[in-house]
Amino acid sequence: MEINLISDTVTKPTQGMLKAMMSAEVGDDVFGADPTVIRLQDKLASLFGKEAALYFPSGTMANQTAIKIHTFPAEQMICDKWAHVFNFEGGGAAFNSGISCCLLDGDRGMFTADQVRKSINDPENIHIPVTSLVAVENTTNKGGGACWDFSELQKIKNVCAENNLAYHLDGARLFNALVEKNETPQQYGDLFDTISICLSKGLGAPIGSVLLGSKEHIKKALRIRKLYGGAMRQVGYLAAAGIYALDHHVERLEEDHSKAKVIGKALLDSPYVKKVEPIETNIIIFYVNDDVNENDFVDALKEKNILISSMGEGKLRMVTHLDFTEDMLAIVIKELNDLKINVKN
Ligand SMILES: *Cc1c(COP(=O)(O)O)cnc(C)c1O
Repeated sequence: MEINLISDTVTKPTQGMLKAMMSAEVGDDVFGADPTVIRLQDKLASLFGKEAALYFPSGTMANQTAIKIHTFPAEQMICDKWAHVFNFEGGGAAFNSGISCCLLDGDRGMFTADQVRKSINDPENIHIPVTSLVAVENTTNKGGGACWDFSELQKIKNVCAENNLAYHLDGARLFNALVEKNETPQQYGDLFDTISICLSKGLGAPIGSVLLGSKEHIKKALRIRKLYGGAMRQVGYLAAAGIYALDHHVERLEEDHSKAKVIGKALLDSPYVKKVEPIETNIIIFYVNDDVNENDFVDALKEKNILISSMGEGKLRMVTHLDFTEDMLAIVIKELNDLKINVKN
């Protein structure tokens, strides 16, 4: 049996989800005529108290569309140096929107309102780019599934309002934060201009993200999604998986978080592990000792059919998810306890 902890994107649809998909009522969504897609969009918009929502094939396309809505070419977006929108979207902010990024030196992917305030360019100074957007990520991906302090997000909102900046949330794993911190979607809907949500991460759908915003934002998003090649036909079969995920897979995220903490403890007990980052949700980031080769650690687990990923610079990552069972957890703990690796001398 293979145990895949590379990402929470590796899950396959459950029987219940497949059944919901197969029985979905569909239509041509490019004509806005797929009832299941409309149902998913309406469900999320009303959950977050936003006026409108739009279904996307990927979180990257949803984020890239939001950036394009909020900026003009040559302007600047403020985000963390570890942000997905800067690091893992192929340079799309520059290519699709023609903007530059002002990278903040945050803590595990999170920064402060003060840092934002100090990074806003003087709009009267013609030599420097116009700051137009602040993007935050919750939970942070590269930051190890960390959750923002909601009061800091509110303070950043105030800075945005004072300086006429748009405020976007990359909420690929927002539901992990909501469950962990006992927060509500409405709180986030009230704060942000636009929010992207991934259905294909911890929620376990095979594909799909949704962008939330005002009617005006979503009207623009519709045109940009078409431009990016993301308008799809009878895609209600996939949207049905998203609806099923929202109905069945939100509360259970807590199980992923508690399994991650159990693994974190076993890693701390391992003679090969130097440090484990704080575990708040379903992502575990840790470092092996200086005398251990990180690839040897990955390979030793692979020998035992446990797949984890290396993020470079001695950083290793495991992510728990819907398809990672209690039995698998027991195996991982046992194999971590029994692990034998040659150390460098
Ligand atoms: C996964 C992810 C996305 C979107 O990724 P896709 O693979 O394009 O769906 C965006 N932001 C963060 C933080 C993510 O983890």
